[in-house]
Amino acid sequence: MSFLPRATVLTSNIVDNWRALDALHPGATTAAVVKADGYGLGAAQVANALKEAGCQTFFVAYLEEGTSLRKTIGRGPRIFVLNGPVRGQLTSYTTAGLTAVLSSEHHLKLWSKERPGTCAIHADTGMNRLGLPPSVIDTEATAIRRLAPVLVMSHLACADDPKNPINLAQRRAFEAVADAFPDTPASLANSAGCYLGKNYGFDLTRPGIALYGGTTPPPNVGLKPAIILESSVISVFTGRKDTTVGYGATHTLTEDRLLATCAIGYADGLPRSGSGRLGGWIEGVRCPVAGRISMDLVTLDITDGPAGVKPGTRVEFLGEHAQLEAQAEACGTLGYELLTGLGRRVQRQYR
Ligand SMILES: *Cc1c(COP(=O)(O)O)cnc(C)c1O
Repeated sequence: MSFLPRATVLTSNIVDNWRALDALHPGATTAAVVKADGYGLGAAQVANALKEAGCQTFFVAYLEEGTSLRKTIGRGPRIFVLNGPVRGQLTSYTTAGLTAVLSSEHHLKLWSKERPGTCAIHADTGMNRLGLPPSVIDTEATAIRRLAPVLVMSHLACADDPKNPINLAQRRAFEAVADAFPDTPASLANSAGCYLGKNYGFDLTRPGIALYGGTTPPPNVGLKPAIILESSVISVFTGRKDTTVGYGATHTLTEDRLLATCAIGYADGLPRSGSGRLGGWIEGVRCPVAGRISMDLVTLDITDGPAGVKPGTRVEFLGEHAQLEAQAEACGTLGYELLTGLGRRVQRQYR
């Protein structure tokens, strides 16, 4: 028995989420983005489960993530490296059979002596983050064709805001790029982009966060939680009227309240910004955080919670009840940041 915080990763739910996204774009291939160690959940376990389910295309951010993923999933699936190559890495790309996503003129020069068919072209259609401007793709079109890219792609800046006109503008700009390479598969949509309609699917979609239960999908898409984050109660006691709870004495008790201190804190990825706002669920009942979240501990007000809470009682901070997006919002952040911020001390188990 351990009181360390525990994260149970539900790989079968991740597979179900991948299938739900795949069903939205029947004509397109559905890839899986597993950068940042599978958004903190474990790239190896996630990718193996998805490969088993038929996923043949993966995206990571770094060469190092790609080489490690290749060892895990073996030859066969394609692995794209989003951040692109750095001088001196070219043989590593070849050895591990990784596909470099080229997003700058520097990348084009670097890759030009390499074998054809081992790269993708990333166009910047309006995000101004990473990617070749369409004008450069235009002037370099002959050189790019010589590289025989296996994918042309771009990335949406505002996909989570379906009404934002930038989505349509980016789609139009991307269509022009894709039209210039009619024999090359095209890809635009991340998770939220998959919800924008069939015109956004192109040949390949690149969901990440939705696989892990994030985003706010339309009603016809049912996503399942990918992780259950639990902590144990270590102390139950009555906080007396007119005393305060936690560092900084930010929370004053206006009456006697039943409190439970749980073994989880910001070192485990429970953002301190959730102090006084976040909740933990005990037996399906939400109990509010009282006072500041500290490094290893958080105190809940369980006065209105279930009876019989004692040391060892499990408290859900993410899962079926404690929903990822709602919990993230309570911390003033995103599901992405909550998942990738899970601490190293959290014991991961896979189911
Ligand atoms: C991270 C990333 C994705 C996945 O985005 P989600 O919002 O997590 O679905 C797709 N494409 C690119 C270029 C990315 O950087």
